[in-house]
Amino acid sequence: MVLEVRNITKRYGGITALKDISFSIRQGEVYGLIGPNGAGKTTMFNCITNFVEPTSGEVYFKGENITGLKPYKITERGICRTYQNIRLFPQMTVLQNVMVGGHSRLSSGVFKRVFRMKSQKHEEKRLMERAKELLELVGLGQMEKLFAENLSYGQQRRLEIARALAASPTLLLLDEPAAGMNETETENLYELIKKIQSMGVTILIIEYDMSLVMRLCDRIAVLNFGEKLAEGTPEEIQNDPAVIEAYLGKE
Ligand code: ATP
Repeated sequence: MVLEVRNITKRYGGITALKDISFSIRQGEVYGLIGPNGAGKTTMFNCITNFVEPTSGEVYFKGENITGLKPYKITERGICRTYQNIRLFPQMTVLQNVMVGGHSRLSSGVFKRVFRMKSQKHEEKRLMERAKELLELVGLGQMEKLFAENLSYGQQRRLEIARALAASPTLLLLDEPAAGMNETETENLYELIKKIQSMGVTILIIEYDMSLVMRLCDRIAVLNFGEKLAEGTPEEIQNDPAVIEAYLGKE
């Protein structure tokens, strides 16, 4: 297992955003988190990355308890994420945005030790080469010199993924990557996520586009009012009466 979420509860005052949620993700899987608005999906991402502290429960990553570690330490261990609302540096170039993602892991821990003996220039060059490779991967190779703010919405979403990949994650968390994308952009996103999976990266994805989720995911968990309603393969989820009732809609 790459990730084990054990009995996570998160309360905000009187609101229970997550109630005793457990699930595990295997190496190389694409695992989907779906459910209606306010079900607790983003709160789960925030608990995994410790952007918010869970009220109780634990998160294990590659067998180690990472609950309570500072978010940058969690990135350093190999969990990177994108956000529901795009968070780029709009007045930096596309290339610079990706290089920032590489720095976030280089600046601490094991990477710092590896690079301590090497010159700053060499480090920058390596980061730049890697960033260019990732821009090619996400289909933005021709756009490296543009300011991020001049990209289309779909391109900005792909740039966020490239930036998250720059830190060489073992586990990539994607928060609604297809939001605001047209059909062609969504299709390109599907291909991209499949490619990232084939590179050995494990993926946890929150997404509303059910056609995309069902084609992409190996397994899915359905959240509803902070509780885990169901878990299974796309086929199992699509045929689960409780899921149909609460989320997918009746025939
Ligand atoms: P959406 O798909 O609309 O983003 P979601 O499934 O990601 O929804 P969350 O954003 O995790 O849901 O929210 C779960 C619940 O927790 C909601 O009731 C929300 O209002 C509440 N919540 C989330 N963050 C906070 C916060 N910082 N303070 C108070 N309540 C919060």
